[in-house]
Amino acid sequence: MNLINKENLEVWFVTGSQHLYGEEALRQVAKNSQKLVEGLNARANFPVSVTFKPVQTTTETVRDVCLDANHHKGCIGIITWCHTFSPSKMWITGLKQLNKPVLHLHTQFNRDLPWGEIDMDFMNLNQAAHGDREHGFIHSRLRRNRKVVVGHWEDSEVHERIDAWMRAALAWADWQGGKYARFGDNMRFVAVTEGDKVSAEARFGYSVNGYGVGDLVSKVHEVSDAEVDSLVSEYGDQYELMDSLRPGGAQHEALRVGARQELGMRAFLVEGGFQGFTTTFENLYGLTQLPGLAVQRLMADGYGFGAEGDWKTAALVRAMKVMDEGLDGHTSFMEDYTYHMHPGKHQVLGAHMLEICPSIARGTPRVEIHPLGIGGKADPVRMVFDSVTGPGLNATLVDMGNRYRMIVNTCDVVEPEAPLPKLPVARALWETKPDFKTALAAWIYAGGAHHTGFSLTVSAEMLEDFADIAGIEYLPIDETTNLRLFKKELQLNEVVYGNHLGY
Ligand code: MN
Repeated sequence: MNLINKENLEVWFVTGSQHLYGEEALRQVAKNSQKLVEGLNARANFPVSVTFKPVQTTTETVRDVCLDANHHKGCIGIITWCHTFSPSKMWITGLKQLNKPVLHLHTQFNRDLPWGEIDMDFMNLNQAAHGDREHGFIHSRLRRNRKVVVGHWEDSEVHERIDAWMRAALAWADWQGGKYARFGDNMRFVAVTEGDKVSAEARFGYSVNGYGVGDLVSKVHEVSDAEVDSLVSEYGDQYELMDSLRPGGAQHEALRVGARQELGMRAFLVEGGFQGFTTTFENLYGLTQLPGLAVQRLMADGYGFGAEGDWKTAALVRAMKVMDEGLDGHTSFMEDYTYHMHPGKHQVLGAHMLEICPSIARGTPRVEIHPLGIGGKADPVRMVFDSVTGPGLNATLVDMGNRYRMIVNTCDVVEPEAPLPKLPVARALWETKPDFKTALAAWIYAGGAHHTGFSLTVSAEMLEDFADIAGIEYLPIDETTNLRLFKKELQLNEVVYGNHLGY
């Protein structure tokens, strides 16, 4: 896997208070906060640990902890909480400079009111009820995006909300300084896969650069026969091979070409420190097949991928791969391909020419070879499989010319009603929320792309948190979507983002 090493990553837990209630109260606040942090780490199965930071009581120390967070590479975000009434003017200087994601946890140390025992000491100690309102105001007043999570810190729902945000923060950290390689430009004349790479780097933190296909081809040529032998035998162990692709089969050489492509591409990506890449069937000079199996396997290892030069989707797929890591992730590049428009049962069949990630496969993928009608190259090898089923979503990121827009449509991934024996590609079948006609009209009104990040693991909540961290427009299409309100939201967002400078 090429995903980020989470061992040295952490979220900082910063408690706000003040000196009004005396040193004894502050000692208790620190003790309780520490216990709360220990409780979160012990009870919730978070992807990174939560680190206790000293209780904040002055403008200067709040500023210092915010600046420390900025400089600390391992800190992917901070959780704030005001145990007592914490005057939050003292947070202005720090928050104005903080550049890490924030989650404001609105909780209370004591779960239940001690009815028979409650006195003014209890009241003064446990007053997040108004301390966190003050704290919320300062974030709102400074127009700072943050996630607000409400509930007792031992509540598993609270842990789920924090977990989703942590995964978004991890993906955000991965995008900062991330590198994406493009082999060939966009598919000619296609609009939605275009975009402003300078704005993307300014807004999202990752860079996208083009590389000569010839440079990739020379990496492919450098691969030794012994390396190919070993990878081909790995294919034989992991997948079911079509007879003609097996050793001695008529098309075995094509499988070796696929293995050589994988090894060459992998070497190129590893040496360049890339997190994702794009290919295009219109620019394969020197490659004998459109890379199918190679791309599928690289995606399974965590690389972001976009076909036809679609770098925005490559970066999005990568972000989603980071979010779902450790969760038995089922996430792939996807394309809305064709429809089942049977009355009362409208479905979308998603696939691509070749490049669907086997992390969504149900059962053992079958490696097959078939002709490809476009690209004018030799028949490519690819994995063929059906998707696992269950709740899922499609996400797209489009460039609106003055801003980026993320659209997320939830769906149910379902079993095809009959086998598809003649379809030579991996595929998924789904039913969109709230229903086919509303979802597709909303998607098309919003300008959503035909390429998506598709997942049965990443939640809409993670993507919403991610969009908020990135500060971009977020449009969910789900069971609550009403088309008239959705159209109005699109119109209103033109005003909201109309004066937005530089994306
Ligand atoms: Mn495509």
